[in-house]
Amino acid sequence: AQNFQIQEALEQLGIQQENNGTSTGNHWFGSGSMLSSTSPVDGAFIAKVSTSTKEDYEQVVEKAQEAFKTWRSLPAPQRGEIVRQFGDKLRELKEPLGKLVSYEMGKSYQEGLGEVQEMIDICDFAVGLSRQLHGLTMHSERPGHRMYEQYHPMGIVGIISAFNFPVAVWSWNTALAWVCGDVCIWKPSEKTPLCGIACQNIIATVLKNNNLPEGISCIINGDYKVGEFLSQDNRVPLVSATGSTRMGKIVAQTVAGRLGKSLLELGGNNAIIVTPDADIKMTVIGAVFGAVGTAGQRCTSTRRLIVHESMYDQVKEALVNAYGQLKIGNPLDQNNHVGPLIDTDAVANYQNALDQAVKEGANILVLGGVLEGNGYTSGCYVKPAIVEAKNEFKIVQQETFAPILYLLRYTGDVTNAIDQQNNVAQGLSSAIMTNNLREAERFLSVAGSDCGIANVNIGTSGAEIGGAFGGEKETGGGRESGSDAWKVYMRRQTNTINYTTELPLAQGIKFNL
Ligand code: NAD
Repeated sequence: AQNFQIQEALEQLGIQQENNGTSTGNHWFGSGSMLSSTSPVDGAFIAKVSTSTKEDYEQVVEKAQEAFKTWRSLPAPQRGEIVRQFGDKLRELKEPLGKLVSYEMGKSYQEGLGEVQEMIDICDFAVGLSRQLHGLTMHSERPGHRMYEQYHPMGIVGIISAFNFPVAVWSWNTALAWVCGDVCIWKPSEKTPLCGIACQNIIATVLKNNNLPEGISCIINGDYKVGEFLSQDNRVPLVSATGSTRMGKIVAQTVAGRLGKSLLELGGNNAIIVTPDADIKMTVIGAVFGAVGTAGQRCTSTRRLIVHESMYDQVKEALVNAYGQLKIGNPLDQNNHVGPLIDTDAVANYQNALDQAVKEGANILVLGGVLEGNGYTSGCYVKPAIVEAKNEFKIVQQETFAPILYLLRYTGDVTNAIDQQNNVAQGLSSAIMTNNLREAERFLSVAGSDCGIANVNIGTSGAEIGGAFGGEKETGGGRESGSDAWKVYMRRQTNTINYTTELPLAQGIKFNL
């Protein structure tokens, strides 16, 4: 029955057994080798997608360049109307798309639906934004002059995305880029190509219904080599890349080498600080959801828990107890808390991390391990582990994309906890659990958390689209989604207009002819 539901979802989303992986809208092609998508849920083959060759890519860029001329001239609120219709289509297809996300990526069905909801939310946000892309006006120092700034579309935005948010990350970028007047070329993760095909089908219908040209929404498929088409191409003024820090460093250097712009959303090593004034019940819910939700495969997953020594044993006991109740299994079954990792390589990384932690002197508090047998045949299901460790351990300093929670201890003042929390290379998300105003404000102060996201009495994961999303240091410094994140998708222009018959120069410079 489960399988049948997936079949039905695939049909509703226009996915066939073999799909062309390159598209400029309604026109699909792709002459490269085939990519097979299998589900980490049950190991079953789902469908194939053709990869994009350089020649395919050239066709896409040509169409995108042409389309940009039409799209940029459409008033922004009219572009917003297209995004509104896209949001409506997503509402209609929320269930099948949520199911595909869950089945192809392995997150729970609830989280799959949540991801589609995030797409709908960003569409709503972008519709409003389409009437608010405003610059400032300034007072000129010269008489009879007016000075202001405006934001113009940039052109083609290249989007390279990770497997763990296979649909939302694209929409955070595209919904804003489209209202800003840009056209997009998306290269989804090679681990979740079908989610990409489904999304492109949805937007292509909307564009067609509005008689808009090919090239406004494009997709290319394949591995990092196809991603390089975008990072190396100076016809692509902005590359938005989401994924590992390793990838980000390569893409950033390539794009910078041609003086293009990049928007980077990379790895995190997120911590929750638990102070003597923490609410234990909230702490445990926040930490467990943060550490095991999406099987620890969120960029904002909780990786470290920094607990005051006076609370340590109490927190430890509560966590062990909570982990004992976790149900691991098919994520489409709503009774399960933890689904599979994306593939067996991820399982190997998980095991290596646990081995290395032990070598460095860690104590395994909740034993991990790979699950076998009925329901676990994909080989991708692992047990969430808790490891008592030290912040300076090499393995703790790294992001392991799996459900491993490092339990760390601090003594004395909250500043000691903040030091530990900041003492990693990454700077995405952070949180403090406290009812003490002084501690909370210290955590949020200039001397507090150095992350892009800092929460009080909430865990590290589960951001809302209204705020700007992203992080510092090796997380890459980019911001997406809400607030003024839209500005990165536009070019800024300062305009000075003289409405007199004189030509006074700035700074009072005299130049007489
Ligand atoms: P990954 O780096 O392996 O791949 C991400 C994407 O980059 C894929 O589409 C891949 O094909 C492409 N890519 C890889 N090397 C490239 C290159 N040299 N040139 C061009 N493209 C290249 O990451 P992943 O395993 O898919 O995702 C997990 C990672 O993503 C984690 O580190 C996670 O923290 C991060 N992530 C960050 C955010 C954020 O907003 N900060 C969000 C989601 C995921």
